[in-house]
Amino acid sequence: MPTRRPLIAGNWKMHKTGEEAVQTVQQLKSLVADVQDVEVMVAPPFTALAPVAQALAGSTIALGGQNMHWESKGAFTGEIAPGMLVAAGCRYVIIGHSERRQFFGETDTTVNQKIRAALTADLQPVFCIGESEAQREAGQTFSVLDKQVQNGLEGLFSQDLQSLVVAYEPVWAIGTGKTATKEQAQEVHAHVRQLIADTVDKHLAETMRILYGGSVNPGNVKALMAMPDVDGALVGGASLDPETFSQLVHYQ
Ligand code: PEP
Repeated sequence: MPTRRPLIAGNWKMHKTGEEAVQTVQQLKSLVADVQDVEVMVAPPFTALAPVAQALAGSTIALGGQNMHWESKGAFTGEIAPGMLVAAGCRYVIIGHSERRQFFGETDTTVNQKIRAALTADLQPVFCIGESEAQREAGQTFSVLDKQVQNGLEGLFSQDLQSLVVAYEPVWAIGTGKTATKEQAQEVHAHVRQLIADTVDKHLAETMRILYGGSVNPGNVKALMAMPDVDGALVGGASLDPETFSQLVHYQ
């Protein structure tokens, strides 16, 4: 059974100026300096990436973008190219977050284009999927997720997807204080892993990390992380305060 290195990732959304972000990572750096077997990533807003990368020099905390365009350059006002994230020091990029899908018109097609572009640029995509409350109540959770995974990864093969991270984020649990139970998270993670095994590759499915996201906090992280198919967390609100985020990283 391959071991999957846990990843605790912080999505800061539209919070923190460059200066505030640097202060946060400076505290975080010392708070998590003892951690070896858990990977830590933070995704600040674009304007904070370069100063945060500088502040993280010599630290093992990885940097991620929250979004990007799929083209490498051009007339796309307000957008950021994959190479720009790499140049700013990013190793990861969050793709298809439900807020992007809900408020900025992202579709499975643009998510697929972005995943392809991220992989080409050597960025590790954190590919977000998740069902709405209405879809869960209608018994459509698995069919919604299957479609998101299959469309998002369309045309990509095992050899392309070695660095892929999937984040299961039920939309009803994001920023709401409602967390999926550990059993609900495990059920979905196992299902997604099986889907990847059946449609892409068994070995990839075994090695690929699947994060849970949705109101993760110091009170629920340990139980979620104890589930066999939960390989980490994508954290919004609880990642903004370095002490709280450090508690999540120290979930063991
Ligand atoms: C997120 O935005 O990815 C998220 C999971 O947010 P929160 O932890 O605040 O629910």
